[in-house]
Amino acid sequence: MESLFFYSRQKLKDMIRIAIQTKGRLNEESIKMLSSIDIDIDNNKRKFLSNAANFPAEVLYLRDDDIPHVVESGTAQLGIVGLNEVAEKGCNVEIVCKLGFGGCRISLAIPKGDEYTGVEYFNGKRIATSYPAILQKFLNENNIDARIEVITGSVEIAPAAGIADAIFDIVSSGGTLVSNGLKEVERVFESEAVLIANKDLATQEKEILDEILFRIESEKISLRKKYILMNIPSENLQVALQILPAMRSPTVLPLAAEGWCSLHSVVGADELWDKVKQLKAIGAEGILVLSLDKIIL
Ligand code: ATP
Ligand code: MG
Repeated sequence: MESLFFYSRQKLKDMIRIAIQTKGRLNEESIKMLSSIDIDIDNNKRKFLSNAANFPAEVLYLRDDDIPHVVESGTAQLGIVGLNEVAEKGCNVEIVCKLGFGGCRISLAIPKGDEYTGVEYFNGKRIATSYPAILQKFLNENNIDARIEVITGSVEIAPAAGIADAIFDIVSSGGTLVSNGLKEVERVFESEAVLIANKDLATQEKEILDEILFRIESEKISLRKKYILMNIPSENLQVALQILPAMRSPTVLPLAAEGWCSLHSVVGADELWDKVKQLKAIGAEGILVLSLDKIIL
């Protein structure tokens, strides 16, 4: 952490520094997310800092545990990290938005043969975890008096190893619990990757953050929409226009073949198949559906 101090001294106002995980579950998705909003960085794992080629940003690679603090202190202005790490570290940062990846939960699990009657089960028990702060909060809220054993890795083996009676750990599919003879009994904390920001950004840094948010929103909207084009008999054009209201209105182009036109529009991905069925029923042919890269509203 000492070396980070050096970087905090040369805070660049016309550039933003984004802390992401060096390696691990969030690294690839974080780079993919940045690339999806056209911030391309070189994912050279031996580097500590890399510049974006096409955006006023640089990326600082860190262990995920260090990201909330580095953003709180302003060494990096932004960070991409699991909400679980932000909650555990209790850092004073802005949670700007959820990013839709790295979904998981932190749950209490007990040996599968034990009967579970409710949270009182944990009174007097030893619980192994890497998330003592989140666990302590849950225990306090439920008036449970349990002993927390802090373990930084392989928490799931603690009951079999006799270190603890139960565990409080990250679960995504639940497979690891089952293979260690455990069952999930309380889902305590839902997490996903979030974009966090320092609470004291300079004006130019805020402008860059706004640009990032604008791009994230355009990307999110585009994922929920499809571009659809088709040929339609001109006599059914009005009905087709009723089926397909677009952002302003659909584009209609004449075709060389008499009595036909080409209709282009944007539809919600969730209503695509319903619209296709209705359009086919009124004679639409040659229907093409394309994914959208960005939608700028
Ligand atoms: P680091 O070396 O950076 O400290 P780590 O070992 O602490 O890495 P990872 O296992 O890479 O962390 O997980 C990073 C984050 O990914 C977690 O904090 C959590 O937010 C998220 N995550 C999503 N699914 C899972 C899962 N099944 N197991 C663990 N973490 C998950
Ligand atoms: Mg970590």
